[in-house]
Amino acid sequence: MKKIKVTIWNEGTHERRDEAVQRVYPDTIGGALKSFIKNMEGVSEVRHVSLYDEEQGFTQELLDDTDVLVYWAHVSHAEVKDEYVERIYERVLNGMGIVLLHSAHASKIFNKLCGTHTSYLRWREAAEKERVWNVNPTHPIAKGLPDQFLIPHTEMYGEHFNIPKPDDIIFISWYEGGNVFRSGITYTRGAGKIFYFSPGHETFPIYYQKEVQQVIKNGIEWVAPAFEETAMLKNGAPCDNVPLEEIKSVR
Ligand code: ZN
Repeated sequence: MKKIKVTIWNEGTHERRDEAVQRVYPDTIGGALKSFIKNMEGVSEVRHVSLYDEEQGFTQELLDDTDVLVYWAHVSHAEVKDEYVERIYERVLNGMGIVLLHSAHASKIFNKLCGTHTSYLRWREAAEKERVWNVNPTHPIAKGLPDQFLIPHTEMYGEHFNIPKPDDIIFISWYEGGNVFRSGITYTRGAGKIFYFSPGHETFPIYYQKEVQQVIKNGIEWVAPAFEETAMLKNGAPCDNVPLEEIKSVR
């Protein structure tokens, strides 16, 4: 089976200016993600780019050479140029998988893929506990995970989350303050698969937690394109309208 080429797009704004984030993620959030993604058996290559790279990290060449885009963002959503959002969108429709993490729920690309105001949700920074419940244990993204696991300190994201009905809900989070959230969800758009996973606030060491790493690795495997090319991937829009059988009905 062909191996997966992963590109991590980490916004990179916090790491440039917030000491608290630099302390938790000295090698940046993208670096922390790369440290465990690069060891995945099915992955051949991991690139790490940010908003501050050439064409904001979204060159056509790189996107064309990416099977799975892992997208972490928080405070600079509005700065991402629409023309690059369009590029990512087209690649997803043509089969590139995308894993959106934490505040990527408010990114232009997630908005566009969902078609709703996905930034609308409750949130609170109180360093409270989050218990992530695995509510879909037969789904590949739940592989190897327990019934539930605890994140000791988190930022709360709570319902109602203004998303279209997901294809699948894999995780539901409960928070110490009483809120709940659909924290792991999937969609398909065109030939592309989408996984959103909410844990990952920048001032807590959440991406060092084994269960969280397992979820992200499973998510990458699940959204990766099937390499036996489908007609949709190969031919674009179907244009052959010749009937397969003789049409005998008369008006
Ligand atoms: Zn956050």
